[in-house]
Amino acid sequence: MVDINIAIIGAGPAGLSAALELKKLGFDDLVVFEREDEAGGTPRHCGHLGFGMFEFKQVLSGPNYAKKLAEKAAQKGINVQLKSTLVKVEDGILTFSTPEGVKQYKPTCTLFALGARETPRSDRLVSGGRSPNIITTGTLQRFAYLQKIKPFEKAVIVGSEIVSFSAIMSAKHLGIKVEAMIEEKEQIESFCLLKYITKLFLNIPVYTGVKLENINTQDKAVQSLTISKDGKKEDIACDGVIFTGKFTPESSMLQKSFVDFNTQNSSLNITQNFQSSSDGVFVAGNATRGALAAFRCYFEGKKVASKIKDYLNFKHTPKIIKIEADENVSWYYPTMLDIKSPLEGHLTTLRLKNRAKGAIKIYLNDRLVGTKKVWAFPFISISIPWKDIELKEKDNIRLEFSADS
Ligand SMILES: Cc1cc2nc3c(=O)[nH]c(=O)nc-3n(C[C@H](O)[C@H](O)[C@H](O)COP(=O)(O)OP(=O)(O)OC[C@H]3O[C@@H](n4cnc5c(N)ncnc54)[C@H](O)[C@@H]3O)c2cc1C
Repeated sequence: MVDINIAIIGAGPAGLSAALELKKLGFDDLVVFEREDEAGGTPRHCGHLGFGMFEFKQVLSGPNYAKKLAEKAAQKGINVQLKSTLVKVEDGILTFSTPEGVKQYKPTCTLFALGARETPRSDRLVSGGRSPNIITTGTLQRFAYLQKIKPFEKAVIVGSEIVSFSAIMSAKHLGIKVEAMIEEKEQIESFCLLKYITKLFLNIPVYTGVKLENINTQDKAVQSLTISKDGKKEDIACDGVIFTGKFTPESSMLQKSFVDFNTQNSSLNITQNFQSSSDGVFVAGNATRGALAAFRCYFEGKKVASKIKDYLNFKHTPKIIKIEADENVSWYYPTMLDIKSPLEGHLTTLRLKNRAKGAIKIYLNDRLVGTKKVWAFPFISISIPWKDIELKEKDNIRLEFSADS
């Protein structure tokens, strides 16, 4: 077992920017662990442009952005251990599976920057047959931009988040015909304009308010999908299905290893400093909630680096107050306040599950202390402000959404 000062798990934008910043702050005893055979994270297989504008003042494709980050890390001499998958965390010891066998490290401080993944078919309880042609956008993009394989000819896209439109572009890149996009909610999960662009300019029907009843297969080959709306069923012929969106942090490891797990976020509870309630454990980037843009994760990486510095130099241990949020909230972060650190007028950032107009009420120990009027969309984050009210340990903060009548 090797003792190290800082372990960063995940070489995506969050993990690598944290490593670069820590190096700049003078921390050399630092190792980044990455399960893939290259550093750079999710952007490695997002072949489209749209990365790097805020970080590098350049418009880059995902792979070029990932390459730039990985090259910066290499230039600064950061130790990135590739093909190293974290498989266990126990008593502060990290166990990795690597091509050379199992390796163990005992860090003083650990940053989990594991990213998020789309919810695959297996976790969505969709009935029907099994087939290798039932995939997620992430897998489609790996086929398109890393392996250059066309897995099928005619696909249906399940979901209508921004990433679902990225799936359309990747399918087009491979020459796959998209037969339809289907969404169970009454409205698409991104800007309405995208629905009309998809219908009118790409000639792809977009069905909203439909239920995916069954994936019809024969000998492990997809034949069609059965969808229903208002009790009427319809089959859409296709040989591939792409499940898109519903991002959730790569958190099964965290859930198994730590008690203070927030099921609403599918991640550890964290303070405004990205610090968890376990000694020396931090979480940043998409591993803290669902997916946001890469630049946000990159800047979170930089921010968490300065918090790790405070922890290592001054043994900063948080004094914690938990924030709770009702069932209308899909995720929120931070989920705890460290009352030893400044709040800077900000309580938390959240997203609601559905489109709605109303108010988010902030309760401190059952006393209403603030209200924020919102017109919410599930794909837009809402910042919840905090008035300067003195907080004590054992205080309780709760957020409740009430819709306008
Ligand atoms: C289809 C798609 C399109 C996108 N388009 C854009 C865009 O145009 N612009 C934009 O700004 N953002 C875009 N994004 C979002 C962006 O890619 C993410 O926000 C960003 O990559 C998140 O950074 P991260 O470091 O938190 O996680 P990731 O980039 O996901 O990195 C996490 C890393 O952790 C590693 N890891 C996970 N578990 C383990 C383990 N157990 N052991 C070791 N390593 C592990 C993973 O292999 C991965 O490399 C897109 C995302 C997707 C999926």
